[in-house]
Amino acid sequence: MSERRQGRDDGEGQGLNARIVATGADLLRGLAGEKPSLFQRDRWVGRIMDWSLGNAEFRTRLLRFVDVFPALSTSRALSHHLKEYFGDMGGPAPGPLRWAMGAASGPLAAPFLAKVIRYSIEKLGQQFIIGDTSERAMKSLSRIRSEGCAFSLDILGEAVVSEDEAEAYAGQYAVLIRDLRGAEGKWPALAGGGESRDALDWGYAPAISISLKPSSLHSQIRPQNFEGSVEAVLRRLRPLYEQLIEARGAMCIDMESYAYKGISLGVYKALRKEYPGYRDLSIAMQAYLRDTGADVEDLLAWSEKHGLPVGIRLVKGAYWDYEVVRARQNGWVIPVYTEKAETDAAFERLARLVLEHHDTAYLAAGTHNIRSIAAVLELAAQAHTPSDRYEFQVLYGMAEPVRRVLLDRVGRVRLYCPCGPIVPGMAYLVRRLLENTANQSFLRLMFSEGTDAGDLLRDPAEAVEKARDPQASTARKARALAAPPSSDLPPFENQPPADFTREEERDRFREALARVRQKLGRTYPLFINGEDRATEETEASTNPADPSEVIGWVCQARRIEADEAIAAASSAFERWRNTDASTRASYLLKAAGHLRARRFELAAWQVLEIGKQWDQASADVAEAIDFLEYYAREMERLGSPRLLPSPPGERNYSLYEARGVAVVIAPWNFPLAISCGMVSAAIVTGNCVVYKPSPLTPIIGRHLVEAFSDALLPAGVFNYVPGRTGEIAEYLIDHEAVSTIAFTGSTDVGLRIIEKAASTRQGQFQVKRVICEMGGKNAIIIDEDADLDEAVPGVLVSAFGFQGQKCSSCSRVIVVGAIYDVFVERLMGAAKSLALGPAEDPAFALGPVADDRARSRILSYIEVGDKEGRVLFQGEAPEGRNYVPVTILGDIEIGHRVAQEEIFGPVLAVMRAATFEEALDKANATRFALTGGVFSRSPDHLEAARRSFRVGNLYLNRHITGALVGRQPFGGFKLSGLGTKAGGAEYLLHFMDPRVVTENIARKGFVPEADLEDPC
Ligand SMILES: Cc1cc2nc3c(=O)[nH]c(=O)nc-3n(C[C@H](O)[C@H](O)[C@H](O)COP(=O)(O)OP(=O)(O)OC[C@H]3O[C@@H](n4cnc5c(N)ncnc54)[C@H](O)[C@@H]3O)c2cc1C
Repeated sequence: MSERRQGRDDGEGQGLNARIVATGADLLRGLAGEKPSLFQRDRWVGRIMDWSLGNAEFRTRLLRFVDVFPALSTSRALSHHLKEYFGDMGGPAPGPLRWAMGAASGPLAAPFLAKVIRYSIEKLGQQFIIGDTSERAMKSLSRIRSEGCAFSLDILGEAVVSEDEAEAYAGQYAVLIRDLRGAEGKWPALAGGGESRDALDWGYAPAISISLKPSSLHSQIRPQNFEGSVEAVLRRLRPLYEQLIEARGAMCIDMESYAYKGISLGVYKALRKEYPGYRDLSIAMQAYLRDTGADVEDLLAWSEKHGLPVGIRLVKGAYWDYEVVRARQNGWVIPVYTEKAETDAAFERLARLVLEHHDTAYLAAGTHNIRSIAAVLELAAQAHTPSDRYEFQVLYGMAEPVRRVLLDRVGRVRLYCPCGPIVPGMAYLVRRLLENTANQSFLRLMFSEGTDAGDLLRDPAEAVEKARDPQASTARKARALAAPPSSDLPPFENQPPADFTREEERDRFREALARVRQKLGRTYPLFINGEDRATEETEASTNPADPSEVIGWVCQARRIEADEAIAAASSAFERWRNTDASTRASYLLKAAGHLRARRFELAAWQVLEIGKQWDQASADVAEAIDFLEYYAREMERLGSPRLLPSPPGERNYSLYEARGVAVVIAPWNFPLAISCGMVSAAIVTGNCVVYKPSPLTPIIGRHLVEAFSDALLPAGVFNYVPGRTGEIAEYLIDHEAVSTIAFTGSTDVGLRIIEKAASTRQGQFQVKRVICEMGGKNAIIIDEDADLDEAVPGVLVSAFGFQGQKCSSCSRVIVVGAIYDVFVERLMGAAKSLALGPAEDPAFALGPVADDRARSRILSYIEVGDKEGRVLFQGEAPEGRNYVPVTILGDIEIGHRVAQEEIFGPVLAVMRAATFEEALDKANATRFALTGGVFSRSPDHLEAARRSFRVGNLYLNRHITGALVGRQPFGGFKLSGLGTKAGGAEYLLHFMDPRVVTENIARKGFVPEADLEDPC
């Protein structure tokens, strides 16, 4: 909606704003100096808030402590964490904290201290949560209604990680609706509703109202599976809605993080359409999202088109920090406004839009901000919105004076009331604490900072306008330009993977799959010395989900073609080595452009040729682009000679030089990314490449030919020779003209390559160098205080993502102490919820393994595991083809084969450890050192892991796969590799030999003057 529609450019805007300010001032007067209990210092909760507001360090630690608190089941754990979290806090600590710290040191006091802390946190919880049991909740609701407020009830809970948990959650709602029905008879209708039994609140609103989060009804919501996710949520929601209709209740669909927005809207529209006669269904819309303007307009148009009135709860949005961080981490456009005033202005704009459509739309304004409330009141008056077409909503426990003044002036106030056990509801509590202590929170500014009324009521649109002021932005631009660019290239940034929350990206992927399907069955030649080279013999590359489906026919190189490729590379070498480093880098950048332009299609090939899920395939293509961009910049850095310490009369330089012909032997599991990484590193450093793709993914490998041909890379620099491993791989490795071998794959093969490369052949002029990334037996430690809401999905994606076929995959999980049973139960529930099927269909979380050989090998390991320990859980797999059921093995000890050997499939061994130290020992007790992870909220344990968890890539409190170029240079040591780090600053050095040139620049004792003045 344009600014003009809001009336800012005419007199109306000025008049409207004046009225909003006057109403706001009136409301502020109505607060009469009263403070919400949150900000009353004579109350325990108020004191905690006060300390948090005054001390940012304390606030951070407190939020973290509240977060870990549910996991601290013993007094000892509690006092230990208290010391860890607050023991070293500098500056004056609040009195009770000092007391608690003292008490934490005495062993006898620990149980007492635990009681005090539990009591305090429960008190804090009670501030925002109306009851931990249904009985208490009903009592609170009776009180709330007797005070004149309506309610909407929401059940708090842990994150739903499995379908069993989602089912249980839906069950809780069913019980809640039943209890509400039982209690309703005792509640007279609110103001104006009349006395009869059928009376409605305010004459039109049902007394029973619930709020509900779609993500709690289905554990497998995935944006790429949009329709499937909507339908799965609806399957659990429909019976609840029908029960609610029978109880004549209302429902609001809460809005969660941005990733779920489209799905929530889809659920809302579907439900509204299925039950057209029942209109007490609303949806929360977040004003802080840039998209929401269009979404609200779309919803209003949809409502008019279908003749279905809609209810909109307009809020600002509760996940601001999360959205900003998530977008930054993925390189996506930040979906929220980044200036608070922009959100406030959007709230007013959207409120106006809904109020103007009062014939078909009902507005629930969810805010505690007096300016926003006043704006809604004045906009409603201006739009002649009848009073039964809008209400106000506030959160329970947040702003009692605001609630009171709204009740006095408007009458229609609804409290959003979370209920449920306080401990699992901790995530909600942390969000509320964050919100109230945020610098720009209206409540903080008003009740804690004492900001004056003029500032509190200022028109947010004015502030937005000011920020757009060309003079202000010119000054910003000037500041930005003042910093000179460090090189001609912009700094490296990771290529964002596809964002499937966006409909257009889902459509593009679907279209790409359809396009690729039309290209199936073609024949792919070799590429040698800049030309395609057909061979008589071809091999079919097939779809692992349906091995009878041929993706394409691939020409097979024999020794003669391998010789030709090596000859082509050898003869191109000298010229290529002497090509300026920047020029070499420029070819990589052009190839990156080629891949970027085709990123959906390239990902679609991976879905069909190797069974990667949409998101996994998209991430692989993004990584390939990253390697090209990153290594191009690295070569710019390393390409010029570097001056070394040089006394007068002498010049010392170091420089790097290419080694010669590099053979690249690539795996199938990251068919484009790893191939592209090894090939581009070799090429940009001045080597010429003979590239052998995996026999399972030769067609994806062929796309590198297209990328480098498009970049006009000189002939002979890159040669593509797919072929049988037995026929040409060893031949290439043994070849006397080869100087470097870059390999990624299993440890057995890697070690054989190292051994073979070590023996010198007749006619060989160089010691061969092997750059080798091999296997892993990666472990994740689950500490006793881990956040299982994060740990379970983290382990799941690490162990079973792409069917566990990544060298970084987790294959062992080591669980510390008493948390074992809960963790394993939740993990098994989550694993049970993963559906297996063709990767092409985004409904499936997992797909087939690479081929029949892989399947047989994995199944035989499962048999071994069942003998060594036992199968704790085995999922279902479609019959035939290359599917392997997700399997979790229990009672596994460190000496067992399944705890030592790489399986490379969806098999996870669970082990126990009594202490964190024992867990670390077990994690380190293999031949491998690739990736590892820890889920813990103990600062001491995290530090111990940093120090002694010996792996190439250690991840703390996150999944252990998905390393990003530049951010997490990837590679291990021990038998996992030779310590090279792909995507890191040292990687290119492995493809080059260092040289030093020393020159005597004195002539008969004469040294140039400049050299005397400025010796290095
Ligand atoms: C009844 C009710 C139901 C709710 N339901 C939901 C829901 O379903 N989903 C949901 O996400 N939230 C929900 N909320 C929370 C709501 O989104 C707000 O977080 C909360 O109400 C604070 O907004 P305010 O107007 O009261 O306070 P204010 O202090 O005026 O606004 C704070 C809000 O401004 C925004 N903001 C803060 N900093 C910035 C910045 N730098 N740039 C841009 N914007 C910024 C954030 O949204 C923040 O929450 C609900 C709130 C209520 C009252």
